[in-house]
Parts: sequence; C-alpha cells; structure tokens
Amino acid sequence: MPLMKSWLESANAPDCPFPLNNLPYGVFSHDGGAPRCGVAIGDRILDVTALEASGHLSLADKPVLDRPEWNAVMALGPQAWQRLRTLLFGYLVEGTALKSQVADYLHPLAGATMHMPFAVAEFTDFYAGRHHATNVGTMFRGAENALPPNWLHIPIGYNGRASSVVVSGTDVRRPWGQLKAPDADVPHFAPCVRFDHELEMGAIIGRPSRPGHPVSVAEADSMIFGYVLLNDWSARDIQAWEYQPLGPFQAKATATTISPWIVTREALEPFRCMTPEREKPLLPYLQEPGPMLYDIELEVELTPKGGVPTTIARTNYREMYYSAAQQLAHHTTSGCPMRVGDLLGSGTISGQTRESRGSMLELSWGGKEPLTLPGGETRSFLEDHDRLTLRGQCRGDGYLIGFGECTGTVMPALTRPYGL
Ligand code: MN
Repeated sequence: MPLMKSWLESANAPDCPFPLNNLPYGVFSHDGGAPRCGVAIGDRILDVTALEASGHLSLADKPVLDRPEWNAVMALGPQAWQRLRTLLFGYLVEGTALKSQVADYLHPLAGATMHMPFAVAEFTDFYAGRHHATNVGTMFRGAENALPPNWLHIPIGYNGRASSVVVSGTDVRRPWGQLKAPDADVPHFAPCVRFDHELEMGAIIGRPSRPGHPVSVAEADSMIFGYVLLNDWSARDIQAWEYQPLGPFQAKATATTISPWIVTREALEPFRCMTPEREKPLLPYLQEPGPMLYDIELEVELTPKGGVPTTIARTNYREMYYSAAQQLAHHTTSGCPMRVGDLLGSGTISGQTRESRGSMLELSWGGKEPLTLPGGETRSFLEDHDRLTLRGQCRGDGYLIGFGECTGTVMPALTRPYGL
C-alpha cells in the first residue's frame, strides 16, 4: 500500500511517523486544558472530542469521545472502529471538500501533553520472545536447560498490575524490596540495585470475551484494537529472590510505561508477517490461520543525566515466537473473560545478536559484561536519572507508521520508605 496523501502537507513527508495511513488514537491536553481524545496526523493532533461535540463525528446514538479515554470507542466494536477510520480519512484526505469542517480542530503536536490513552482494565505480561527466554534461561540455568520444558508449547505469562501502567514521560522511582545476595543466609530490605527495562509491545483488547468461552486465534486477532510500545520495568534482584514458585510479583509491579498513541490493527495490516517456524508443533487451539505478527522496527535509547542519547539495542517485533492473538487465545482457555481495555505485554523482544537484546540483563549478560557508553560511563543496569526511550516504526512504501516515544526516567529510591 502506498502513502495516502493528506491535504495537511506535514503528513506526507516520507519520515513523518503519523501519515494518513496511520491515524493513531491518544489523549492530549494543551495550555493546561482538560485532557481530550485526539488523532495524530502529520505535525498536528485532531481534537475529535471537539469534533464529536460539534456534530461532525457521530459514532453512536450517544457521545463516546466526551471523556479522556478511548474505551467507549473500543466497546462499540469493529464496525464502529472501521467507520471512525473512514470518517477520518474523509476529513483529512487530499482534495476533500470537508477540509473546512476540521481545520479549526487541529492543534500543534509539539507542546501537547499526552495522557494515558485508555483506562487499563487488567494487565497480563507474557514471556514469549524466544531469544530473551533463551538468554535469561542460559544465565540462570545453563545453556542445556535454557528453555523450560513447557516453553515451546505454551505462551508463558503472569497476571500483572493495571494500576501501575503509566504513560510515556512519567518518572519511575527505583523500588525498595527484599534482596538476598547469593552468599548471604538471609535477605535484607534495600533499594533495588539491578533495575532494568524490558522492550515489549502491548496489545490492547477492544472486544470482550464471555466467561467460560475460550476464543480461537482468529477470533482473538479480531478482538485486538491496537498496539503500543511497552516498557516492563523490572527489578532483577527482587525478582531473583521472589520468583519461585509463582513468578514475578513486586519485581514488576513498580511501573509499566506505554507509548501515548494507540496504533490500530488496521494501520498495521500491511505489515503482517508469520511467526517463526515451530520447533515443536503447537496444539490445534494455538495454531494460527494466517500471519499474526507485524514487521515493526524497534530500538532502545539510554541517556545518562547530562549525557549523550545512545541507542543500546535494535530489534524487530517479528522476532516473537508467539503472537498477541495466540497469547489472547491461550488466556481464554480457562474460561477467563477478557475485558475491553485489557493490556497484554508481549514479553521482552530480543533478537539473536548482542545488539538486539531488549533488556540490560541480557545486554550486560547479568552484569558480567557492562556496556560502555560514548561519554565513558559504564552500565550493567540502570542508574538513577537514566532516561530510557523505546521507539518503533513500520517502514511502508514511501511512508512510516510510528508509535511515538515510550520514555521514562529513573528517579532515586526513597531515602526512608516508611518515613522512619
Ligand atoms: Mn516483561
């Protein structure tokens, strides 16, 4: 599919992350005003809350954009999602006679404050990147036992916290927790020393499933409203001590940062690709009827306080072993109902090479091989005031589909967590 041209010239630049082909959904405010729903186009945000209020955008018999979240739009279902996209195309496409109806509702993207684009109902995080699981398993259990025996058969996950999902730009405070040195007899309580990022994609569920009714992979795919970049902040020393036998708990509850724009499944359609070849055949309920992954270039940038931004990893979402649709289908096998606004983390996305590892744990190989940054600083894990930024894009025929940045800065741990 080629670039679809808009009358807004900035949207037609080949390096613009938000051409007409994209139309991602976010929540923004400007000049201290109330947060409202917006659509990114070129270097502008279209205020669709105002557009609906003016009578120029009607999706249902009552307003759905009159609140600072996209959940009510999601709940209308795929026909309404398609209708919204068609209406937006109609207003923004080159040569339209409707230009004057929306021109007043476009605001500069630069300087806008972005908010959480949707209310997160529940958050589940998976462990579905094969290279990540192999790297971590090799470090903890040796190369022979790197992948647990279930890994090639089941998308491993855990139920996380929706309450600590935050939008890009939110500072993240280094947590305290129980830590135990390998040679110590007992744990102690102290600030996390091995604080880390995880490069992931988040899939947002836009259609619910019924209690007691598992969904197929094809149905699961149709339930996904869109995708965001996701940083699953992880306290590796807390995780190492607490994780057996029930998996991560406090190590991953501090914060999860997402990018501010929901890139829709429709915008990603031209970039679908197959999951890698299966080493072991999957059970029928996990088999995919078609390509369910996407070709999304991803990168991680680290900026020390006062230092130079440095790209520390480059990889691609197509490296995943399981797609979000497979994860979602698996999630419902128990009869667990999925809700509008549920968020699924893909699991850390690492490639085969050192340069493509999606966490500090892997990049520094458990702290044994620290990275040296251009300013001379070394890093095994994240230090206070480090800024971490994820970026992602699909490369189309003369255009890009961008996600916006997923950024967070590590703040020092509280000096006295209990006010003692
Ligand atoms: Mn994770």
